[in-house]
Amino acid sequence: MEKYVQILKENGFKITNQRMDVLEVLEENRKEHLSTEEVFAKLIEKGKEIGIATVYRTLQMLEESDLVYKLDLDGKSYRYELVDYLEKGKVHQHHHLICENCHAILEVQGDFLDELEQMIEKKYKFKVMNHDVKFYGLCEHCKK
Ligand SMILES: [Zn+2]
Ligand SMILES: [Zn+2]
Ligand SMILES: [Zn+2]
Repeated sequence: MEKYVQILKENGFKITNQRMDVLEVLEENRKEHLSTEEVFAKLIEKGKEIGIATVYRTLQMLEESDLVYKLDLDGKSYRYELVDYLEKGKVHQHHHLICENCHAILEVQGDFLDELEQMIEKKYKFKVMNHDVKFYGLCEHCKK
């Protein structure tokens, strides 16, 4: 959490209880990809007094501060998760597998794009900072 607080401060944002509460819910559900409604429901479960509009605004703000990654499923529905940071900075975004039938979201462990990134940097003299990769298809369960 410390790293996130530090980044918020660096971005000139105040550390409010609501911001911390939203970050905490995302931290506690790291492998999940929560919708605004789900984040809101979890805050209410924890006994927090917060409105859904505030949750929505807070998530937007955290996304702009690069603390939260907004996964765009289809241009209409979005899921949120914490951006991973290491000592040296932000980690490349992991890839997502999205089931078009049950809407399950799976994470791919590993970047697997090193070779492509090197090729792009060499060929286009372009510094790759991150990427956003989504695969759409059918999960193991729905494929049957
Ligand atoms: Zn990468
Ligand atoms: Zn499925
Ligand atoms: Zn993810």
